[in-house]
Amino acid sequence: MSLSILPAVPTQDLTITDDGHQFFLTLWIAAACAPCPHCGEVSSRVHSTYARQVHDLPWSDAAVSVELVVPKWWCDNPDCPQSIFCMRLTPWVPAYGRRSARLTEWIADWA
Ligand SMILES: [Zn+2]
Repeated sequence: MSLSILPAVPTQDLTITDDGHQFFLTLWIAAACAPCPHCGEVSSRVHSTYARQVHDLPWSDAAVSVELVVPKWWCDNPDCPQSIFCMRLTPWVPAYGRRSARLTEWIADWA
């Protein structure tokens, strides 16, 4: 499955729920490999997964909260100081970011 908000990231599954005021998306990222952000070596050895909350543009008048379930990988480069890394989702979400890049742009345009 490919989702237009994440054009370069393959997704494994997506659930959408709401509480009448806000949408909650849970998006499982499925990737066969990822490059280490420190050394660039591509790894296909999954360490684990982690969940991360990101806010995205609202749908109509409802806020959107996306829980990203993202793989963590082992870096097998013996010279790399980063033995475990998380898959980057740039440019959609900056590293360690809590909101999508397009939400940040929307807020900057609005302010
Ligand atoms: Zn590395």
